[in-house]
Amino acid sequence: MAKTKLNIVVSGAYGRMGREVVKAVSGAPDMKLVGAFDRAGVGEDSGEAAGIGRNGVAISGDLSKLLKSVNADVMVDFTIAEGFIKRAQAAVSAGAALVVGTTGIPQDVVKKTAALADAKKLGVIFAPNFAIGAVLMMKFAAMAAPYMPAAEIIELHHDKKIDSPSGTALYTAELMAAAKKNLPLRMDPTQTEKIPGARGASVGDISVHSVRLPGFLAHQEVIFGAPGQTLTIRHDTSSRESFMPGVLLAARKVVAIKKTVVGLENLV
Ligand code: NAD
Repeated sequence: MAKTKLNIVVSGAYGRMGREVVKAVSGAPDMKLVGAFDRAGVGEDSGEAAGIGRNGVAISGDLSKLLKSVNADVMVDFTIAEGFIKRAQAAVSAGAALVVGTTGIPQDVVKKTAALADAKKLGVIFAPNFAIGAVLMMKFAAMAAPYMPAAEIIELHHDKKIDSPSGTALYTAELMAAAKKNLPLRMDPTQTEKIPGARGASVGDISVHSVRLPGFLAHQEVIFGAPGQTLTIRHDTSSRESFMPGVLLAARKVVAIKKTVVGLENLV
C-alpha cells in the first residue's frame, strides 16, 4: 500500500515550541508523529507533555537511536543553536529532511548543514520565524528600507528567551540592509554612550534593541525615520499557535525541495 502520511520526528519535543509542534503534527491528517527527542522529559509521553493526552510516543534522549528505530521523513527542530550540527547530522544520516526553527545558528553551521543535506539530496528549511504575519512584517520592512533614511528595530520577547537579539530581528535587519544596497549608511548621532549598550546592538547601520519581560511572547517593531515623519511596522504574536501553519507547510514542502532554503518566504 502506498505511504500516505509524512513521518515526523520532533526534536526539542519537551520545549515550549516542541510541544506545540507535537500538538500540530498530531492534528494534521497527512502527518504522523513517529518520534520525540529532547534532553529533558526523557521517558515522558510526548502527547501528555503537549497537553493532548497520551499518544504512546515517549520522549527519547538518544536521537541517533531514535532515528534508527523509526522511518522519519522530516525532523522538526526547536532546540538551541549549541550542538545543532550533531542533531542535523543524525537526521541527515537517517535520511530525514530538516525543518529548523531554532534561532541563533551561525552561518557556517547553516552552510555545513546544507552541504550534508545536499550530499544526501535532502531538503532543509531554516526559518527564523514561521508566523505569516512576521514574514509579512519582514517583507514590508525590506520594501520600506530604500525609501526611509534611518531605521531601528525593537524586538520584545518573553523572559525565558535565552538568545538576543532574536533571529527574526537579525534576519529583518539583514533583509533591510540588502534592500538598501548601495544607498548611504545612516550616521548615528551618538557621541557619548553614557551606559554601554544604550543604543542597542548594531546590524550595519540599524540599531537593534531587545526587551525581555514576562507578559510578552514574541513581538517586533521596525521604526523608520525621515525628516518630519516616522513609519512603524509592528507584529505581535499572542500564541505559539501562530507558528504552526508555517511549520506544517515547511514539513510538507521540505520533502520535495532537495535543497536548503532560508526563510519561509523563499519557500513558496
Ligand atoms: P524551550 O527552551 O522551551 O525549548 C527548547 C527545548 O530544547 C527544551 O525542551 C530543551 O530541553 C531542548 N534542548 C536544548 N538543547 C538540547 C540538546 N542539546 N539536546 C536535546 N534537547 C535540547 O525554547 P522554545 O521557546 O521552545 O524555543 C526553541 C527555539 O525555537 C529557540 O531557538 C527559539 O528562538 C526558537 N523559536 C523559533 C520560532 C520560529 O518561528 N522559527 C518561534 C519561536 C521560537
